[in-house]
Amino acid sequence: MDDESINKAEIYDVIIIGGGPAGLTAGIYTSRARLSTIMIEKLGIGGQAVLTDKIENYPGFKDGIYGAELIHHMQEQAESFGTNIVYGEVNRIEFSEEGNIKKVFVDDDTVPYQCLSIIIAAGNEQRKIGVPGESEFTGKGVSYCATCDGAFFRNVPVAVIGGGDVAIEEGMFLTRFASKVYIIHRRDRLRATKILQEKAFKNERIEVLYNSVVDEIYGQNMVEGIKLKNIKTGEKTDLSVNGAFVFIGYIPNLDFLGTIVKKSDDNYIIVDKEMATSREGIFACGDCCKKNLKQVVTACGDGATAAFSAQHYVERLKGEEYA
Ligand code: NAP
Repeated sequence: MDDESINKAEIYDVIIIGGGPAGLTAGIYTSRARLSTIMIEKLGIGGQAVLTDKIENYPGFKDGIYGAELIHHMQEQAESFGTNIVYGEVNRIEFSEEGNIKKVFVDDDTVPYQCLSIIIAAGNEQRKIGVPGESEFTGKGVSYCATCDGAFFRNVPVAVIGGGDVAIEEGMFLTRFASKVYIIHRRDRLRATKILQEKAFKNERIEVLYNSVVDEIYGQNMVEGIKLKNIKTGEKTDLSVNGAFVFIGYIPNLDFLGTIVKKSDDNYIIVDKEMATSREGIFACGDCCKKNLKQVVTACGDGATAAFSAQHYVERLKGEEYA
């Protein structure tokens, strides 16, 4: 629900699109710089991080910190400095000829939010495998979130598809419930960080099926199994599982931007080292940007830089820059 203090007649200094770690950090920085800031979030604050069980490589927490807990602290911090959060889905951005005003349209509302600068921190959405049965059984055994759905799979075997950090972390989380977790990976070795691999290999409930791809997810009303193909031998097998958890990476969902900023061939936003996009006054941060290392800590770093750049841009527009 919209905060009563949010007013569509007002021209905000900054609108942040997306409330994951990058956007929340940007909010902390812009609000501390006393820029009027609203954050527009589509679903729920936290992005992928809030769905993560424990984050072990965010500095300052020797024993790790739960994703939801870390996000809770970030949100409290951003709001305490003055970031206002609005829930809704941005569907387009327009530019006004006068005064460098950017207009951000949310849901099907014809009256936009207005601002001088925009920070895009829209993150990504989960990639789908695209095999028969995947969409049919979503919510009926096919899941994209172990922390949300893992407890429904007590004492039954499940499959995890993917070989990256998320697949391994979530696979290990699932061993708390499932009798067996098969990790299905298309290559002959995992992509995940070595320390995660070491932990997974020590876990007796985990078995990795290499060189394997999913051809089909099947069942009556719920998932009952997966048809697998070995891409080296061509051998086809049936794996009897009650759950299929898909963690094969993420893809950007930036349709609302159209062509207003330059994107890479794979649809990520291209930014410079100040997190500026190709369009003046629009900055971007976090996983929606083209970059190699996508972690909570790098998203936060990007968010701080984007906020600093937006601050200077806004102060320049107002003739207030402390150069
Ligand atoms: P990722 O690192 O891109 O891994 C995706 C995995 O899915 C890869 O093993 C990939 O195989 C496989 N894959 C992709 N498309 C596939 C398809 N169509 N069919 C079958 N398999 C497919 O993605 P992620 O694990 O979701 O992680 C996302 C980012 O968050 C990464 O940068 C990761 O490092 C970061 N992250 C870090 C941590 C941590 O440091 N603790 C935790 C979570 C996430 P290939 O290997 O063959 O490409």
